[in-house]
Amino acid sequence: MMDSCQHIVLVSRPTGIPVAENFRLETGPMPVPTDGEVLVRARYLSLDPYMRGRMSPAKSYAKPVEIGEPMEGETIAEVVESRHPDYQPGDLVRARSGWRTHAAISAEGLHRVDPALAPITTNLGVLGMPGFTAYAGMKVIGQPKPGETVVVAAASGPVGSLVGQLAKLAGARAVGIAGGPEKCAYVRGELGFDAVVDHRSEGIEEKLAEACPDGIDVYFENVGGQIWQVVLPLLNRFARVPMCGVIAHYNGAAGAEHDLLPATMLAIVRRSLLLRGYINVEFVDEHYDAFLREVGPKVRSGEIRYREDIVDGLEKAPEAFIGMLAGRNFGKALIRLS
Ligand code: NDP
Repeated sequence: MMDSCQHIVLVSRPTGIPVAENFRLETGPMPVPTDGEVLVRARYLSLDPYMRGRMSPAKSYAKPVEIGEPMEGETIAEVVESRHPDYQPGDLVRARSGWRTHAAISAEGLHRVDPALAPITTNLGVLGMPGFTAYAGMKVIGQPKPGETVVVAAASGPVGSLVGQLAKLAGARAVGIAGGPEKCAYVRGELGFDAVVDHRSEGIEEKLAEACPDGIDVYFENVGGQIWQVVLPLLNRFARVPMCGVIAHYNGAAGAEHDLLPATMLAIVRRSLLLRGYINVEFVDEHYDAFLREVGPKVRSGEIRYREDIVDGLEKAPEAFIGMLAGRNFGKALIRLS
């Protein structure tokens, strides 16, 4: 076995858009598991927008990553040594082992991965946390009905792509918003949305209004900023808004042309809107099994489609992560470790 491992640590906190200098690739001794722990070797690392929040010291639902500590993240990993009776070398697990090639971690937080069920990478995407986030937000808050219009931005990504496909399965119209012609063609052509609007092209306001002639009944909020600005006037009475994420604001930039608070508050009252924020873990106990039961077979049969954007090498994680925040990923952002 190798006697050293690599990890990427946070060396400084970004102001605004993260830069490569906020991270450093380090080599260290191979960790040694203690009783109850396993040593895992990561095969795939998931890159997710929430990681931007962990780089900031601001109070949030989870603790920030400390300076000098490895970045947090979920991986698909292989057990190489076990000091826990339930795990053997060779077992595949989903682990919160971070931006590291190897980690000695408690076996308590591990989830088994069965490679016979679906490609293992899906456990970080369409059948993992992002997929569940889409499912729970739609099931608990969005609740689309046949004939209603559902709008979602970041529509080619792991959350948005499933939101639209779940809307279709519920008999609703799915309208996506995505960045650039290639992503838009995929959302309309491969994912089967009814319409798609390119937020990087001119006239998004008119285009979205055209794509939603009966207004919007469910707006699944992934972005905030300018997208919220164009969605707000189109929301129907009693529209539901699962507030899943506001990626346009994660780097601190306003993203909107003007202060939307008064318009938003007036609309909430006058149109009886429901805006409900959530973090997916809130719904895990009640809904995760149903998610796997309902979505799993449809992913395996190809009825639900997904796309992955895989970059090779742990050292590429900072660049790929920064790119994802700017929309340069096309599908679920993953790092493959050799
Ligand atoms: P994606 O893989 O879709 O990546 C983010 C995408 O956001 C980019 O590719 C880009 O797509 C889009 N984007 C970035 N900035 C802007 C902008 N200013 N305006 C419009 N679009 C923008 O991410 P995920 O599917 O993993 O996550 C989607 C959202 O869900 C995020 O806000 C994330 O924080 C949230 N989330 C929330 C969870 C929860 O528990 N509440 C859990 C998981 C995710 P494009 O090029 O198409 O614009």
